[in-house]
Amino acid sequence: MIISGKELSARMKADMAAQVAEFPVKYGRVPHLVVILVGDDPASQSYVRGKGKACEVVGIRNTTIVKPATITEQELLDIIEGLNNDDGVDGILVQLPLPDHIDEATIINAIRKDKDVDGFHPLNVAALWMKQPCTVACTPKGIIRMLDEAGVEIKGKRAVVIGRSQIVGLPVAKLLLDRNATVTICHSRTKDLGAVTREAEILVVAIGRPKFVTADMVSPGTVVIDVGVNRDPETGKLVGDVDFEAIEPKASVITPVPGGVGPMTIACLMENTIECFLRKKQG
Ligand code: NAP
Repeated sequence: MIISGKELSARMKADMAAQVAEFPVKYGRVPHLVVILVGDDPASQSYVRGKGKACEVVGIRNTTIVKPATITEQELLDIIEGLNNDDGVDGILVQLPLPDHIDEATIINAIRKDKDVDGFHPLNVAALWMKQPCTVACTPKGIIRMLDEAGVEIKGKRAVVIGRSQIVGLPVAKLLLDRNATVTICHSRTKDLGAVTREAEILVVAIGRPKFVTADMVSPGTVVIDVGVNRDPETGKLVGDVDFEAIEPKASVITPVPGGVGPMTIACLMENTIECFLRKKQG
C-alpha cells in the first residue's frame, strides 16, 4: 500500500478551507502567515512558493517578505520583532537554511512562541518533550497523520527512526513514543544499522542520502516512511532516502518521494497557522 501524501494533504486543505471560510464572520478576519525568504536559493524559493499556493487553497492570507542574502542578522531580527508585535500576524516562518553569517538559532529564538508555526522555538520543543500544549513541527506531525490515515496501529510497535535532527528525527521519535511505540533512534555512529532496521515494524528514515536504505535492511511487512528529499546523482530526479522500487514489494505500507511526506508537511503548516490564530482568538 502506497500512502499518497498528495491526496491526504488535498483532503486536509479542503477541510481547512471550509473551516477558514467561516472565520471572517466568526472572528472578523482570516489567519495571516508571514514567510521570510532570505537570498535566492532555488530550493528555498520553490518551498516558499509551495507554502504560498497552499495558503491560497486554504484561504489563509500570505505575505512573503524577500530579502537579499546580504541582510544582516540585526536587520532580520528587527523585521521579526515588528511581526511579533503586529496583532494582524498569526504565524511567522523564516525559510531555512539562512546565509552563514546569520545564526539560525538566534533567529528561531526571536520568533514569539505563539507565532512559531514551524514548531522550532525552544519553548515549543521543550513543551513537546514535557507533553504540554505546543505547536508540533510540521513534518513529524504529518508523518503521524499519514500513519493514522493508513490505519497503522502505532501502540506496542517496534519503531526505528534513522536520523536525530531537531526538526525531523527527534520530534518524530517523541511522537511515536507518546503513541506507545517502542522507539530506537539511529544516527551516523550506529553500528550494524541493518541489524537494527530489520527489527523495525515501523521504519522512519530522515537522513538526506539518496536510496541509502536498501531492500536487505527491511523485513517483510514493515511500514516505511521516507522523509528524505534528494537528487538522484545519475538521473537528477527527486528521490528519497529509501530505494523505493526495491522496498515497495516488501513493505506493508510505504510513502513515495515525491508526493509523500512533503505535501503533508505543508498541509500541517496550514493547520499550525490556523491553530495559532484560534489560540489567540479563543484565548
Ligand atoms: P540532518 O539534520 O542533516 O540530519 C540527518 C541525520 O541523519 C543525522 O541525525 C545523521 O546522524 C543521520 N545520518 C547521516 N548519515 C547517516 C548514516 N550513514 N547512517 C545513519 N544515520 C545517518 O537532516 P534533516 O533536516 O533531519 O533532514 C533529513 C532529510 O529529510 C533530508 O533529505 C531533508 O531534505 C529531508 N526533509 C524533508 C522534509 C519534508 O517535508 N519532506 C522536511 C524536512 C527534511 P548524526 O546525527 O550522527 O550526524
